Amino acid sequence: MTEMYDITIVGGGPAGLFAGFYAGMRTAKTQIIESLPQAGGQVAALYPEKMIYDVGGYAGVKAADLAKELEKQARLVGVEIRLSETVIDIQAEENFYHVKTDRNEYDTKAILLATGNGAFNPRKLAVKNLEHLEDEKIFYHVPDLEHFMDQDVLIAGGGDSAIDIALMLESVAKSVSLVHRRDQFRGMERNVQHLHESTVNIMTPYLISNVQDADEGIDVDLKQIGTEDLKTTHFDKLIVNYGFTSSNKIIKGWEVELEQEHRMFAVDNLMHTNLKNIYAIGDGIEYPGKLRLIATAFGEGPIAVNQIMNDLYPGQRGPVHSTSMFEK
Ligand SMILES: Cc1cc2nc3c(=O)[nH]c(=O)nc-3n(C[C@H](O)[C@H](O)[C@H](O)COP(=O)(O)OP(=O)(O)OC[C@H]3O[C@@H](n4cnc5c(N)ncnc54)[C@H](O)[C@@H]3O)c2cc1C
Repeated sequence: MTEMYDITIVGGGPAGLFAGFYAGMRTAKTQIIESLPQAGGQVAALYPEKMIYDVGGYAGVKAADLAKELEKQARLVGVEIRLSETVIDIQAEENFYHVKTDRNEYDTKAILLATGNGAFNPRKLAVKNLEHLEDEKIFYHVPDLEHFMDQDVLIAGGGDSAIDIALMLESVAKSVSLVHRRDQFRGMERNVQHLHESTVNIMTPYLISNVQDADEGIDVDLKQIGTEDLKTTHFDKLIVNYGFTSSNKIIKGWEVELEQEHRMFAVDNLMHTNLKNIYAIGDGIEYPGKLRLIATAFGEGPIAVNQIMNDLYPGQRGPVHSTSMFEK
């Protein structure tokens, strides 16, 4: 028998994480399911280095730090956060929902959709049949630095995250190379300058045209853009940092009503969708006056969670202030 959750939150962006914290405050048995290996949604995946100035209480916070704090806050109240797991189907049972992911199945009384623009997935290398090397020799995220200790590591990508990874591994790996298809990096000036001052071996403008499994690592074919020049170099590990794609395809099959103009989940002012015990918040919803901002998502979470608790447990004591939980 699978465990029954009160609330399953689909999506671990700012909306899902803060709603998770609030659900924990209401002592709801809660899980958050997030397709990426990291929590934080767009904030962590698309602009980790950007400063955010319009979140209440911060006169400026780095996006990556905000994502980390949100995750920490949700974990503080015991919310289970399942990373690298994508919700692929939701089936209505008599009094609950059966949630299927690409890894597991769960039962839950209520569902809170905090899916933003859809499930994020890393943009992969355009080379076929490499799946068997993933998480062993080819990585789409950095699990922990130990994996790369004393290794010859190639990083592919031209943005801030790729540069950050290269600089972070400089003191750990035996050698670090960075390949990018343009001569110019997209990273912030300060980051690019650090890169040029570092020992990272910069290979531009090159493209990875093939990767082959080899003893103790991989052989990577690097093609110089605009020429016929092709060289094969051996590395122990390859980290690909080409950004993310997001897809709403799966969600479209869940029969949750979409608002006509924007094709986002239609909700009422209590965050109900058209389906009983399915609610939605954050960038993935639409209502008159909706703003796609972190601050708005933070407000919608508590409204939805309180409504879920009222619907599931009518008569149960209402919202408390956080001070009554933590001030002991
Ligand atoms: C470049 C840029 C700059 C921005 N700057 C600001 C700013 O300065 N201030 C501000 O307030 N806002 C800013 N925003 C907007 C802000 O990032 C969004 O409003 C916010 O991220 C919305 O949060 P969310 O949790 O609703 O959605 P998201 O952040 O999109 O998170 C949704 C999460 O759900 C996951 N997910 C979706 N479907 C599934 C599934 N089926 N299974 C598992 N997981 C799933 C996704 O992988 C994703 O991680 C900016 C946006 C961009 C793109």
